[in-house]
Amino acid sequence: MDDSAPRVLKPKDYKTDIAPIWCPGCGHFGVFTAMQKAFADLALRPEELVIVSGIGCSSRLPAYTNAYGFHGVHGRALAVATGVKIARPALTVVAVGGDGDGFSIGGNHFLHACRRNADLTYIVMDNEIYGMTKGQPSPTTPPSFDTALTPGGTGISAFRPTSVALSAGADFIARGYAGDPIDLARIVALAIRHPGFSFLHVLSQCITYRPDERSWKQSVERSEIPPTDDRSEAARRLMADDGLTTGVLFVGNRAVYTPLPTADTATLDDIERGFAL
Ligand code: SF4
Ligand code: MG
Repeated sequence: MDDSAPRVLKPKDYKTDIAPIWCPGCGHFGVFTAMQKAFADLALRPEELVIVSGIGCSSRLPAYTNAYGFHGVHGRALAVATGVKIARPALTVVAVGGDGDGFSIGGNHFLHACRRNADLTYIVMDNEIYGMTKGQPSPTTPPSFDTALTPGGTGISAFRPTSVALSAGADFIARGYAGDPIDLARIVALAIRHPGFSFLHVLSQCITYRPDERSWKQSVERSEIPPTDDRSEAARRLMADDGLTTGVLFVGNRAVYTPLPTADTATLDDIERGFAL
């Protein structure tokens, strides 16, 4: 056998031996399956890949993925992911998390990651609820969703992740559905391949605290329209969107953020000069 031949990677090569503790039927299983397929399709070697997360059910994903991983602080996945990419630009960096982590406590980082346009992929598994802390409303929970904590609903308008990403400058915006992992794998691969900040909004049902999201199976539809590169047209489409259409929605061509000497190329003298007063 030729040991020097490149090994063909399969989706299962991206799994650790830690079994996910998600509830049976949780959408995050489908997202994880799609990510493994996308990594294999892109032939990404585990040592070239970094998965960074915040806190929440979906943020457990780095532990389950055979790659470098960082299970970080609540809402700070993008800050860590940006630092990793800047320090080690040759690595493929994928940040993951949920709607509470990414749009509430991490909302500020989300806005600035969109406008900075470092070459990262951000996958948000949106179940429109805080799952891990037992069902509090998140920024994407519909205003009338009735819970024991918010009788009659919050009455607060839901955050529109794709529209916010567009207006903040994200260069690639797509939506996928955990119940369609084959198409989601295709979209994950496109998002990773896109140079610049790619935002992938994934409808990922929380079977425990949002059992109503089972209906996504009937209502989610793949978009028939090719993505636009026109931000105004994308804004019009996204504002008219019902939130249940999947596919690549916007692809721009902004310059990718490249910082001055990185840890890969800087000498100690360069770094010392950077701190000189
Ligand atoms: Fe998934 Fe919800 Fe269970 Fe968390 S609580 S693992 S989001 S089904
Ligand atoms: Mg959530």
